[in-house]
Amino acid sequence: MSKEASIPWINDFLGVAYRYYDLRMNVVPLFSERKQAVNLWHDTIHWWNDHSIKIRFVETGDQYWFVMGGDSTKPQTNKSFFKILDKSPNYERFKKGHDGEAYLRLGTYTKKFKNDVKDDAVCNCSHIKEDHELERDQDACLVEECQCKKFETFQVNLLKKKKTITDIKFLQEDEVKDDPLTWNCLYINKYRKMN
Ligand SMILES: [Zn+2]
Ligand SMILES: [Zn+2]
Repeated sequence: MSKEASIPWINDFLGVAYRYYDLRMNVVPLFSERKQAVNLWHDTIHWWNDHSIKIRFVETGDQYWFVMGGDSTKPQTNKSFFKILDKSPNYERFKKGHDGEAYLRLGTYTKKFKNDVKDDAVCNCSHIKEDHELERDQDACLVEECQCKKFETFQVNLLKKKKTITDIKFLQEDEVKDDPLTWNCLYINKYRKMN
C-alpha cells in the first residue's frame, strides 16, 4: 500500500471559508465545535511540514471537491481532509486571487439568532437586526420586498495558529490520476463507492 493510501480521510467538518486576513488569503476549514478544531490541529495539522501541505480543488459542475493533506512527522495520527462543496463567490475570489500562497487556519462557524447579537448585526438577508420585528412568533424582516421570515446570521471565528500553504492546484476530474493525493481521495470516496 502506498503511503497516501493508508491515511484516513475525514469529512465531518462543515465547510471551508476563504477570507483575507494578514494580507494573505486564508483557507479555513470550519467546525461547529471549537474543541474539535483545536484537537485536530494539535493531533494532525501541527505535525505537517508546511512545504508538504497540498490543497486541491476538483470542479464538478456547480460543486467542487476540497482536498487537503500533508506529510506528517507523526504519521500514526495523520489524516487527510475532503469535502464536497457548492461553488460560492468567496471560492471564486480565492481561485482568482490566491497567487500561489495561502494561510491555513481552522475556524468555528456558529449560527446566531436575534437574541444573541447587537442591534446593528446583519441578517443573512442582508438587513440589520433592527429591521426585524416579531410578527406571528417569527422575527420577520420589515424591509419591503424582503422574503426573510426569521433573523439568522452566522459568525466565523478563527483559531490563531496558522501554516503557510504553497502547493495549491485547481484540477479537472480527468487530471486527478496524475495527482496522488487527489486520486486517492476520489478513488476511496467516490469511484470505489459507485461499484
Ligand atoms: Zn432577515
Ligand atoms: Zn431582510
